[in-house]
Order: sequence, then structure tokens, then C-alpha cells
Amino acid sequence: MKIRIFWVVFTALLLLVTYAWVSTAHFGPLDIFYIRLANQFFAVLGVVFIFMQFVLSARIKTLEEGFGLDKMLHYHRYFGRIGLIFLALHGLLYIIYELLEFGGVMTHFYFWLGIIAFIGFLITASLAVLYKRIGITYEAWKNIHLFNYVLFPLALIHVFYNASTGTLLYYLWIAFAVAYALIILYRVYQIYRMRSNPYQVIEVKQEAEDIWTVSFKGREFSYKPGQFLMMQLLRDGVLSPSHPFTLSSSPTWDHISITPKESGDFTATIKETKVGDKAFIDAPYGVFSFLNYDAHELVFIAGGIGITPFMSMLRYISEKQLPLEVTLFWGNKDESSLCFQEELEMFQEKMHNFSSILIMSKQKNWPGEQGRINAQLIQKYLPDLEGKDFFVCGPPAMSNAVMAELQKIKVPASKIHRELFDF
Ligand SMILES: Cc1cc2nc3c(=O)[nH]c(=O)nc-3n(C[C@H](O)[C@H](O)[C@H](O)COP(=O)(O)OP(=O)(O)OC[C@H]3O[C@@H](n4cnc5c(N)ncnc54)[C@H](O)[C@@H]3O)c2cc1C
Repeated sequence: MKIRIFWVVFTALLLLVTYAWVSTAHFGPLDIFYIRLANQFFAVLGVVFIFMQFVLSARIKTLEEGFGLDKMLHYHRYFGRIGLIFLALHGLLYIIYELLEFGGVMTHFYFWLGIIAFIGFLITASLAVLYKRIGITYEAWKNIHLFNYVLFPLALIHVFYNASTGTLLYYLWIAFAVAYALIILYRVYQIYRMRSNPYQVIEVKQEAEDIWTVSFKGREFSYKPGQFLMMQLLRDGVLSPSHPFTLSSSPTWDHISITPKESGDFTATIKETKVGDKAFIDAPYGVFSFLNYDAHELVFIAGGIGITPFMSMLRYISEKQLPLEVTLFWGNKDESSLCFQEELEMFQEKMHNFSSILIMSKQKNWPGEQGRINAQLIQKYLPDLEGKDFFVCGPPAMSNAVMAELQKIKVPASKIHRELFDF
């Protein structure tokens, strides 16, 4: 689904719930009753925004194909924050109204359900921002985040009890509950499908000191060069958490590959993977592929292991003999992180319009370019930027720095496409 269609549908949903709420509200003379009306409206909006979080994180394929999973998770975070602000306003205005009207707060059982849901959402959202700073691992944070699936039904019961039977709002909440159940069933089905079609490791190849390519065979699926997968490894009976990795293989191959670099507790164990080990793979995801654009002059800018989607694209372009002009800028600290060198040389021989520029930021004796990828360097090799599409991939710090350099040389935003190796 295109992003534009998503926004149209979401706006229509907001208008519908607003209409449903207006049709049940009793507007009278301007007095403190309006505080009560406002608090109810904020509750309605809050629940809609929180519901959208589940839609955006459910990995629904039709939605993902327009957005890319990373952008969906980005929106997921914003919808969560907006939803929480509405819920906080709802709670605050409820308390103010009750105090002004009755001198105390009425606490029915559904009041407590709302409080539990709100505090739970607040904790999980705060952890999403703070988990690194307070020393919680990504996996532990993710498991805590799953509690939101239990909290949302509490929020739904809370609003359901407040909607008068037979009103449009009452039926809308029923529809939300059904949609929520369908989302959970969809996720469970996805997991079931993935688990019943395990892949097998067919090769583990060292590419550099801390970089390994792992290849798999199993159920075939079509993907675009540059897309990524979500993978769990099953080794010695122990199932790893799910991690995202770009498919470094070309879609033209009869097997799939990923190329992880050691960066933390899971990637440090990649080298222990053995031929015959099993993996559960959920794919493909992402929209980072030149095939998604009408692009003929491609500029690939990679930072470190951010080379993987470009390897997939280059392999594909080379094998399909596509008449494209490709320039690769690849920044690394030093040559110990280089991999795929023979293949890159082969592309240079085979593809007439391919050139690659290697840049080292911390190797004084490197005979080629040194320093960082910046506007000056890009213009040195590409004096004419007109008509070029820029693809940027790497760690967030490098990627942000490159984006700033591209803005300096006035590359239009519509010509820059990027993949962050971080959700
Ligand atoms: C779309 C995408 C494609 C990627 N492709 C590659 C690739 O081709 N090669 C490569 O080396 N790396 C790739 N990565 C990065 C890779 O996923 C992380 O380096 C890896 O998950 C880190 O796990 P860890 O336990 O070793 O490290 P940790 O130290 O636990 O994590 C380092 C950081 O990685 C992220 N991370 C950790 N676990 C997960 C997870 N389960 N899901 C999502 N993010 C996580 C978090 O931001 C965390 O702070 C990609 C990431 C994304 C989002």
C-alpha cells in the first residue's frame, strides 16, 4: 500500500471516530461539562493512535511494501507518543472534572483497567527510549515491549464500558476489537508459517576478520536486491532472537545469503554457526532497492558493513547485464574491514559503467582516498550530479553525516534513498 493511501485511510478513520463521538456527545450550554466531553474525546483519539501502533508493527506485507519496515517502525513510535499524550490529557481532564463536579474521583473497575493500561504503555514507551542508557539489552526490551499486546485489550474494555450500548461508537469499539484479534491471528500465522518452513545453513564463509557470510537453502521467495530478512538461528537446540540482515545474495541465485559483522552479543556468535544448522526466516522486507525507482545513474554510498545491500544490487546488475551507470563510494576505518574485493574487481572488469572508490578514515598509509565521505569527495568523482539517484546505507552516524553532505551539494530529497542499519 502506498504511503498516501495509508494516510487517506487513517484520516478517514479519525473522521469516523470523531463523527461517532460527536453523535453520542450531549452538547449543552458552555460549562464544566465540556471538560468531560474533551476528556472523552481525548480517550477516543488516544485509543485510535495506540491501535495504529499494532497495525504498524504487525509486518503486514501490503503495508510494508509501500513503507519499508524501518519507516513503519518509525511511525509506530510517533503514533505511540501521540496516543500517550492524548491518554494523559484524557486522564488529567477526567480527574479535574470529577474534582470540580463531585469533589472526588469515581473509581469503577474500568477506571482501574484504564489506569493499568496507561501506566503500562508509559513504562514500555519510556523503555523504548531509555533501554540502552539504563543497560537493558535490545532483546530484553523487546520482550517487555510485548506486554503492550496484553495492555491494549484493557484499554479497549475501558472505553467499551464508557460507550452507550447501540451507539456508533459502541459498534466501532467492537470493530476495533475484531481488527485487533485479526492482527494477532495474522502475527501468529506468520510465525507458524516461518517455523514450519525452516531453512538450512549450507555455507559459512569468513569474509574479513569479523565478517561472515552465511548461506541458506529452503523455501524460495522472490525479493528485490537490497531487501532484508528477519532471522532466528536454531543452533544446538537454542533459538536466537530475531535479527534483521540484508540479503547480500542476488535474487538470481538459487540460495540466499546474509553477511553479518560482529557488533554485539548475537553477531559475535555468527562464526559458531555450522553447516546443517537451522534458521527461521521471515522475508523479504524493505524498499531499499534501485528497482523501486526509475533510476539509471546510481550512486551507492556505503559505510562499513552497509556494503551488503549494494553487493546484492551489484551482483544482480552484473548478472542481468543491466545498462546502468554505477559509482560506489565505500567508507571504512581501515582495510581490515574490506571484503568482497575480488568480486568488486570483477565487476570493474565486467561492467563498463562501474567505478568504486574506497575511502579509509583511520589508515594513514592507504594509497587511495582518506578521511570521510563528504561533498568535496563526491563532487571530485561526480562533477555532474544531475539525474543521479543516491543510495546511502550504513550505521546511523555515518548515514546522517552523508545526508548532510548531500544536502550541501543540493541533491534533491527525492533523489536520496537510504537504509539505516537500526530500527
Ligand atoms: C534493515 C537492517 C539491515 C541490516 N543488515 C545488516 C547486515 O547486512 N550486516 C550486519 O552486520 N548488520 C546488519 N544490520 C544490523 C544488525 O541487525 C545488528 O548489528 C544486529 O542485530 C546486532 O545484534 P547483536 O546482538 O549482535 O548486537 P547488540 O549489541 O545487541 O545490538 C546492537 C544494536 O543493533 C540493534 N539490534 C540488536 N538486536 C536487534 C534485533 N533483534 N532487531 C533489530 N535491531 C537489533 C539495536 O539497535 C542495538 O542497539 C541490519 C540492520 C537493519 C535494521
